[in-house]
Amino acid sequence: MDSTIVSIIIKVALAGGLMFFLYKDARARDYSWFMWTFAPVIILFTSSLGSSLFLLALILVMYMATRPKGEIRVCPHCGKKVHYILAFCPFCRKSVKKECLRCHDTVDWDAERCPHCGSMNLTKF
Ligand SMILES: [Zn+2]
Ligand SMILES: [Zn+2]
Repeated sequence: MDSTIVSIIIKVALAGGLMFFLYKDARARDYSWFMWTFAPVIILFTSSLGSSLFLLALILVMYMATRPKGEIRVCPHCGKKVHYILAFCPFCRKSVKKECLRCHDTVDWDAERCPHCGSMNLTKF
């Protein structure tokens, strides 16, 4: 096989792997997933395999440094992964938080009582 074809195959495989990771992670965090998913495509236009590896590492480092921090939870409605800070699931658009009916603060979905005022009077969606 031609070495250019081999390097194109390697580039496509690398870009595809990174795109898959960025899509899942950025969607769960509701963080410009469209832009991040397609960012690795630029490595297909690089001249050498070395520079494409460098670009891939750069995209990954930039993504990790700028993405919203914090844990990923599972949406109680659709089972997809959702960043803990979001009040609504980016996939099924349902609420993933409860509201405390006494102090009107948002409360985690699995909480029994409000962590702010201790009330057990929470909304159930
Ligand atoms: Zn959901
Ligand atoms: Zn409360």
